[in-house]
Amino acid sequence: MRILEARPELGGQLAALYPDRRVYDVPASPAAYAGEVVDALLRQLEPFDIDLRLGEVARSLEPNGDGWTVGSDQARYPAGAVILAAGLGALLPRPASVPGLHTDWPTPGLMVPESAWVQGGVPQATRAALELAEGGTRVTLSHRRALFRGTPGQLRRLEAFRQSGQIKVHAPVEAGFTAAAEATWHLNGYLPDLSPVLGWPLGWQGEYVPADASGQTALPGVYVAGDLSAAGGDFKLISVGFAQAAMCANHAAHFLRPELKVRPGHSSDWRLPERPERLA
Ligand SMILES: Cc1cc2nc3c(=O)[nH]c(=O)nc-3n(C[C@H](O)[C@H](O)[C@H](O)COP(=O)(O)OP(=O)(O)OC[C@H]3O[C@@H](n4cnc5c(N)ncnc54)[C@H](O)[C@@H]3O)c2cc1C
Repeated sequence: MRILEARPELGGQLAALYPDRRVYDVPASPAAYAGEVVDALLRQLEPFDIDLRLGEVARSLEPNGDGWTVGSDQARYPAGAVILAAGLGALLPRPASVPGLHTDWPTPGLMVPESAWVQGGVPQATRAALELAEGGTRVTLSHRRALFRGTPGQLRRLEAFRQSGQIKVHAPVEAGFTAAAEATWHLNGYLPDLSPVLGWPLGWQGEYVPADASGQTALPGVYVAGDLSAAGGDFKLISVGFAQAAMCANHAAHFLRPELKVRPGHSSDWRLPERPERLA
């Protein structure tokens, strides 16, 4: 199994847009922060062998005789079946007005700098300032409003670093504010971009992809789940995406290996080692 994700981490809208907000309607995670829901989902992925391609945007889908080839700027991947869970689109960081600044956190291949200037009030700005400070970096954190977003725990840690002087907080600041630092982050949220997949011949209904009851699109072996699926209508909900993903995964497995039953059975009947050799 392989996952292509445009951002440098998994978690979709929950990680990118509202990790600091509580969600009340995710089954079995009462009033958890969205970031905690993502952490729990990542723990659930641990036993699976997944080729995770972070920071890669899926741009092309072509038939290849046996199935499909999904292409990104970095590589082309053969796939017997494809599940499209692109939500609102690739969550790409808003560009900075000055070129050369880091615009996303986490930052792949980061060399921990001695000093850093983090600009922004989004959750990633608070997280970047904290994680840099925890790594020993002297941090300047600035925002045009006197408001930083984060979980209560993150905001408490931010206040502790502010008091110790390791994070210097400047907010609100005027547009001309500058700080000297070895590395600078300009974190200003995300813009969803559906354009990389809009050209795929999926019989689009506006920004939605229609599917049959199994989640299969107009293309055999290509499935759609979550916010992008027309099947959910206006129900853009995490729980709806979970249900659609379960159906797509089981039908995709059957599509690839017709001897597998579509009826998934109960996972409570499984006897799995902690890290099974193979999980479909
Ligand atoms: C502020 C806010 C609050 C919300 N609160 C709730 C709530 O309380 N309860 C609830 O149930 N729902 C809530 N939602 C809705 C919920 O977040 C969505 O229903 C859910 O995230 C949809 O999941 P998804 O996997 O379909 O899409 P997404 O979460 O959008 O994930 C899609 C992922 O695919 C990636 N991607 C897209 N295109 C490509 C590409 N071409 N190549 C590579 N990667 C790509 C994106 O970068 C993204 O990470 C909220 C949404 C918002 C914005």
